[in-house]
Amino acid sequence: MLKLKNIKFRNTLAALDILRKHDFISRVELAAKLNCDGTTVTRITRDLISKGLLKTEGMADSTGGRPREIVKLNAEWANAIGIGLDPDFITGVSANLKGKILVREQVFFGGKKSGKEFTDALKIIMERLLASCRGKRLTGIGVAAFGTFSGKEQILENVVNYPALEKFNIYDFFKSGYSIAPEITDITIAGAMNEIWFNDNGRKGNCLFFNVGSGIGCVPAIDGNIVFGRYSHAGEFGHTIYHPDGDKCACGRKGCLETFSSINAILKKVRKKTGERSLDFSDVTSRYLDGNAEVTGIVNEAAKCLGTAIANQVNFLMPDEILISGEILKLGEKFYNVIKKTMEEYVFPVFMKNLVIKKSEAWEEASALGAASLTIRKVFEDYEYINEISD
Ligand SMILES: [Zn+2]
Repeated sequence: MLKLKNIKFRNTLAALDILRKHDFISRVELAAKLNCDGTTVTRITRDLISKGLLKTEGMADSTGGRPREIVKLNAEWANAIGIGLDPDFITGVSANLKGKILVREQVFFGGKKSGKEFTDALKIIMERLLASCRGKRLTGIGVAAFGTFSGKEQILENVVNYPALEKFNIYDFFKSGYSIAPEITDITIAGAMNEIWFNDNGRKGNCLFFNVGSGIGCVPAIDGNIVFGRYSHAGEFGHTIYHPDGDKCACGRKGCLETFSSINAILKKVRKKTGERSLDFSDVTSRYLDGNAEVTGIVNEAAKCLGTAIANQVNFLMPDEILISGEILKLGEKFYNVIKKTMEEYVFPVFMKNLVIKKSEAWEEASALGAASLTIRKVFEDYEYINEISD
């Protein structure tokens, strides 16, 4: 049986969730959305004002009747730190409760990819972000990691795109270095969380989120709830095999999707074809966009293979929506259109009908923001937590 206290908690969290999705709202509208009477809403708003989570923003004229009092969420009530780890760079953000980025830090790795290079970069980013949050309430640190991390220990494994990090203990790095227990997830899951939590994507029906960069990941979500694998992992979509006799993959097998459509695979093929060993991904991108024939052939093949892989998943799950994110989007509309065209060719026509296909608008910060959302969510999902932290 629901206790009265629990009903109060539930109503307060429901009010917070509505406030989160609106810039401003009147008390009257809030009461209507909550399906509560005026007294209950007054009690909830008074409680949230006393905690500092709600601000009043004066009165708005209404057509006839009394002017309506306007309220809004105090998004600056607390900050969160989110760290997105990628085999090529680290992105760190501090954000407010609505996912607005307040400070953004990014460090790219050189060619060496040593363990020290990684931890030094992470330390620089952490120091800057912690300094920016000094004196403010902090919901915590969220980390989005690549590779597989094993269950409770949260130690990186199978880090094929950054071998020096094999057995790196992410949890320990933050716990012993900064006395904060981090919330850790996978980069693809974090990207999906960012879309669901801050961008209102994939909240209804079945959605598949694809993250394509140096690695390739996919996670499904049902009505905005991510379907996790064991150990809260996202699976290894990038290492599903598309040609058993294909090129050798960093994972040790042959012909994985990542040997066709990842940034590394594209780079490797362009370098081989042109004989230019020092080409980087931005060179490839600009040549592709300029219509260079050699590069276009290789990149379009990668897009076709990716489109086929996505089509296979759509035929498997029949989702309502798919969302593509990741560094690969630097290849622009031209690349995205080849993916869509390939999908049209291979997805069952009835599955293609009404399928919403989107690409992420802000993929660069997606995993860092998604990681931050891991700790921001507590404010909206755990009344005891807001009680405790507001004291
Ligand atoms: Zn592989």
